[in-house]
Amino acid sequence: MELSSHAQQLSPSLTLAIDSKAKAMRAEGIDVCGFGAGEPDFDTPEHIKEAAIEALREGFTKYTPSSGLPELRTAISEKFAADNNVDYKPGQVIVSNGAKQSCYNAILACCEPGDEVVIPAPYWLSYPDMVRLVGAEPVIVQTKAENSYKMTAEEFENAMTPRTKMVILNSPGNPTGSVYTRSEIEGIVEVALTEDIFILSDEIYEKLIYDDVEHISPASLSKEAYDLTITVNGFSKAYAMTGWRLGYLGAPEEIAKVIDSLQSHSTSGPNSFAQKGAVAALKGSQQCVTDMRDEFNIRREYMFERVSAIPNLSAVKPLGAFYMLVNIAKFGLSSTNFADRLLSKAEVAVVPGIAFGDDQTIRLSYAADLETIKTGLDRIEQFCRTV
Ligand SMILES: *Cc1c(COP(=O)(O)O)cnc(C)c1O
Repeated sequence: MELSSHAQQLSPSLTLAIDSKAKAMRAEGIDVCGFGAGEPDFDTPEHIKEAAIEALREGFTKYTPSSGLPELRTAISEKFAADNNVDYKPGQVIVSNGAKQSCYNAILACCEPGDEVVIPAPYWLSYPDMVRLVGAEPVIVQTKAENSYKMTAEEFENAMTPRTKMVILNSPGNPTGSVYTRSEIEGIVEVALTEDIFILSDEIYEKLIYDDVEHISPASLSKEAYDLTITVNGFSKAYAMTGWRLGYLGAPEEIAKVIDSLQSHSTSGPNSFAQKGAVAALKGSQQCVTDMRDEFNIRREYMFERVSAIPNLSAVKPLGAFYMLVNIAKFGLSSTNFADRLLSKAEVAVVPGIAFGDDQTIRLSYAADLETIKTGLDRIEQFCRTV
């Protein structure tokens, strides 16, 4: 029996082992502080839920077009123009079952065996495996904490080979919380343009950005950049809609067409009534987004202050998303070992950085209420004194 060689290259999710241990401890009645969450702890805003419920009641329960509801694609097209200064016509927008599927569709459409895809580390853990799934090769660029874990144009250029087909950018980033500046994006785009390299820009955390930092979409920089960029976004993080499974991408027409076909033969269009909720999310008041962001910001400030005060820990202050990457190198333990001990001894669950391609860090999520964050940091502080 021979399984697909591409599928066999996949690595099992490293985060799951810690997660299942944390769950087992909770089942035993142990009060584990969870910093592992990869999703907002907030509930979906009420007006969005109502729109989906109403759609269900009205019998909006049939297939939608495979690339999404025209009404939603139009709303997304308007969002791209208003927020990102990028002109994607509704026909260039494909709605999928989460931004994760949008990323995978983009990689499937552009890459094949023999191609290389440049991915800055620490990275969102699905990118390398998505690349392997299509038979292409991830080329990991290790970024530096001094550069706030951002890949420089020079580092990108050094990673390029004649086989480079795509580069993946994720700003604001998971797990780093880093946000690329306009000039940093310009530098990377300039390098990509020299060899016609596709840019996959995962902008899922666009709305979770702090300190008035500017979000830049590579596709907005020039006609040339636009022609090579696929812009991914979604509803999960900005509107606390992870379980709804709705994301989208905007792409040049030719790429969008290919992705439409791909999706029509794999999953078809996403859930009909969920898409009605998504229309309400985009068309309704954005106050809910601001409110959640402000709450995340309070936690970010608190967590950063606490972590910075703990001897032997250090962190780069995140400017976006809801994660803080904490350097644990001074303890001389692997990230898995550190996370494992932290869970057993201090009853705090974190994600070891090795899952994101960086064994010197752990990822703390502040998608948890302030009380949990306080208790968890007290425990981490105590643990770091005795480890
Ligand atoms: C959460 C996340 C996604 C995917 O979100 P969906 O729930 O699939 O829309 C994509 N990219 C990054 C970096 C994420 O953290």
